[in-house]
Parts: sequence; structure tokens; C-alpha cells
Amino acid sequence: MKNSAKIIDGLLKILKAEWPNLVLWSYLLSPLVVRTLTSYQYSKIDLLVFYTLGMSVLWLLAIRFISSNQFKVHLILLPFYLVAAIDLFLVLNFNSRLTAAYLFIGLTNFQEASEFLPTYWRPISIVLMIFILCYGAGLIGLHKRKLYKSKGVFVLAISALIAGYGAYFYKTVQLNSFGKSAVMDLLAKDQSTPVGYLSQITLTANLYFGTEKLIKRRRESDVKITSLSDQSTIETIVFVIGESSRPHNWSLYGYDKDTTPNLGKQAGIFKFNQICTTAPYTSFAVPSMLSLEPISDWDSIASTKSLVSIYRAAGYMTYWLSVQEVDSFGGIIPQIAAEAQYRQYFERSYDGALMSEYEKILNKNETEKKAIFIHVKGSHFEYSRRYPESFDQFKPATSSFKDKITAEYDNSILYTDWLLSTIIDQLKSSKKPSVLFYSSDHGENMMDDSRGLLGHGIGNKYDLPVSAFIWASENVSNQQSLKFLKLKERESQKISISSLPHTLLNITGVFTNRYKSSDDLSSDDFVSSKCPHLLGAGYVPSFDFDAL
Ligand SMILES: [Zn+2]
Repeated sequence: MKNSAKIIDGLLKILKAEWPNLVLWSYLLSPLVVRTLTSYQYSKIDLLVFYTLGMSVLWLLAIRFISSNQFKVHLILLPFYLVAAIDLFLVLNFNSRLTAAYLFIGLTNFQEASEFLPTYWRPISIVLMIFILCYGAGLIGLHKRKLYKSKGVFVLAISALIAGYGAYFYKTVQLNSFGKSAVMDLLAKDQSTPVGYLSQITLTANLYFGTEKLIKRRRESDVKITSLSDQSTIETIVFVIGESSRPHNWSLYGYDKDTTPNLGKQAGIFKFNQICTTAPYTSFAVPSMLSLEPISDWDSIASTKSLVSIYRAAGYMTYWLSVQEVDSFGGIIPQIAAEAQYRQYFERSYDGALMSEYEKILNKNETEKKAIFIHVKGSHFEYSRRYPESFDQFKPATSSFKDKITAEYDNSILYTDWLLSTIIDQLKSSKKPSVLFYSSDHGENMMDDSRGLLGHGIGNKYDLPVSAFIWASENVSNQQSLKFLKLKERESQKISISSLPHTLLNITGVFTNRYKSSDDLSSDDFVSSKCPHLLGAGYVPSFDFDAL
């Protein structure tokens, strides 16, 4: 009895001395905690969540014990409190943390800030109130207060921080390689509070200034629409960019497990059995499949505007929804995203997290023509993190690592099948003439042979072929139906993802001087592709499906 009374007494003493710090900590932790709680259905509570939370607590401890004059310390930290307010605003309104993705939007979209305030003044005021209350109360409480000192706890917290970052760095070096990209990945994954903001800012600055010249050239490049056909009645375009999804594991392309049951039943799908990527890396394949320039001329792809700008110039409202984070692995993808009028990121979530936003976009403004670009996380390693539990349907045949990851990979395809089918179903219910393009960025090696290769970037028969198809609603015009019939002829022809933008232009009747009918799958002039691609720093002129 005496002991428990003592403990309670002690706790009360700590509370009395430390309440201002606890108020400040709650405020700083709020974006992280709220985001974790509200998105539990769309993301896995995994090691990364605990890592972020653990590092945050360690930073807060280090800050607490760095000096006994906590008033001064937290006064100096004011910039972090302001950034945390923006973070909280993003979490409450877009369910996304303040990461490099949003810092990038800030850097590249400042001209649209004038529309921002009138739309969001209410949530902005609420967040500002929370900031003033917490920060004010905390500082007043800390003013002239002498707090318990301990150098030992400070040293311990800093050591644990070094160990934590060290462990992550070790992991990413193992997975990727030692060098700048590992440091960038460490920064990208550091979403701790409050110091993680510095990591995100450093990452953004690095990505921005590393490509500043390119950004300038892209901005200055013009989109010249040469003609707009009035035969096209298509009002909604959806372009879904997949991730690491190879056809080998889709039942739609003949896999013996039923991984794509929904797409298998969808009418209006034109699939391609022999379609290859232009590079087995995300950062090259994605820009290339959204560009009219050939992969043999990477500089042109990088320095001219993409399909997003073409549709923007053609009078479409353009949207970019992404489940992929902005990091050094994405290359110029954030610049392509920046061409869209509207962008939203759903980082560290399942792909399904974007569905409610997609639905909102489809149902708003009846008269608006829409081009919606969706960049999913698809089947990106680690596969088990890509789908919710209800999609954990395929079980490994044995306890081997290969069987385990194959089952997880198949489950991620099953989830992609659900996602794409749901996106198509929503298009159907909108009753608007619509078209959907889906293509993975590249394939994936799944320890297929004795070499035991895993992942992509290798340039072989497992990571060069991609899963891709085009879907069209029933209510398109007759001329368009004829074009879709041409797509049937391409089913077993050798084609490249670089044909997709040319094909989309013809189908929607939007033409620029860079359109080439020989690249257009819906044209009589189409010439079968040799599947040229980039590998390493080099250009490989062909890839042969038949030599599998
Ligand atoms: Zn990729």
C-alpha cells in the first residue's frame, strides 16, 4: 500500500514538473499519431511505423535533456512547430504527412497558392488555433521553470538515435547499394518528429536542385496541339501506372493461379501478351510511357512535357493520384506529376487508399473532361506490405523463401485486380464514354531459375515484359470502336509501352506534332516494336520474347 502511494505521489510530481513538455510533445507527435490511427485500414502497422514513432520519442527525449532551460530550447524550435502545423493540416485534410512529395508541390506549384487560402481557410484556422494553444500553454508553463537535469539520459537518447539510423542505413545498403541513394532513402524514410522535417526538406532540396535545369527546360517546352478531332466523344481518361507487375503471374495472361478473377470477367478489355518496358527501372519507364519521344532519346523525354500537359492543353482537367512517395528512386516523376492541376499523395498506404478521392473526382463537375493519372505501388517489394489481410488468399506451398514471396506476390496481383476492376466499375457507373490504360512500369524477377535473381533492373525475360491492357466503355463512338478493333490485332504482336501515349492520343482525337502513327497501336501504320530499352547507362536496341 505504502509503495503504490509512493509511486502515485512520484508520478504526480513528474506530471507537475513536466506537463508543459507533455503538452508540447503531444502537439509535435499529433500528425504522426493521427495519421497512423486514421489510416490503419489502408496501411500496415509494420516495423516502419514503430521506427518512426521510436525515433520521434528519442528525439523528444534528447531535446528534453539537452538543457534544463527548456523554455529557451522550445523557443528556438519555433520553426519546427510551424512546420508541424502544416504537417497536421495535411494529415487532417489529405491524410498524408508533410513529406518530400508535398514540399515538392509547394516548390513547383506556388502560383496556385492564391486559390488555396479561400478553399481551406477553415481547417487552416483550426490548426493555427491548436498550434497557438499548445505552443502558448507549453511555453508559459516552461517559463522560469527549473527542470530535472540528466546528461546520462541525453547521451543515451543520442546513442539510441545513432543506432536507429545506423540500423536503417545498414538495411537499405543491403537492399540497394552503398552510396548517395542509400542516404537519400534514409532521409526519405525519416518521418520522425520534429527532426524528420529536416530530412524531408534536405531530400526535397537535393531532388529539386539536382534537376533544376531540367525542370526549367521542361517548363519552357511548349505543347503544340495540332488538331482536336470532333469524332472523339471520350470524356474520361484514366491512365493507371502499375509497379513491378509481370504478366507471368496474371491469370489474364495464362498463369495457372486465379490471380485476376475480376479483370478476367470484365468486358471491353484489350490485352497485350507481348508488351515490353523501355527500361526495367521505375524512374525511366514511367516518364517514357507518358512521353511521345522514343527511349533512344532519353534527353528529349526528360526535357519535354508529358502526356499530362498535352491533355491539360487540350482542355482536360488533369489529376495525379500517387501511392508512391517522392524520393530519389522516382527520378523526374515528380516533375511529371507537377504538370497536373491537381495532385494528391497517399504514401505508405495500400493502393486502395486513393479510391475515395478517385470517386470524388469522377463525380464532380459533370461537364468537365478529365484525365486522371494514377501511380500505384502495385507489386513493389516487399510484396506482403501491398495488400490488406483480406487479400492474403494464396498461401506458400512450402516454407521456402521462394514460395513465400511468390504467394505474397500473387496476393499483390489479386489486390491490383480488385483495384483495377473497381476503377473500371466506377467508370461504367459514371455512364461517360471512357477509356482506361493500364501498364506496369516493368516486370520482376522472382527467383525463377537457378540464379535465384530477385527484383528488377536486370534486363531479362522476367523484368522486361510487363502486364498491360486497354479498356474502353461500351458507349464510345463508332469511329472509336473501329480503332479498338485494331487493338485486337495487337494482342500477340510484339509491342512496347512507348506506344501507349501515341495510341491514347489517336483514340481521344488529340494530336500534336510529335504523334507518330507507326507507334500507334490503333493505326494501320503501326510497326511492331523491337523492344529497345535502357539498361544501366546504356541503350539496348532490342529484346526478343521468342528467345525466352
Ligand atoms: Zn518500378
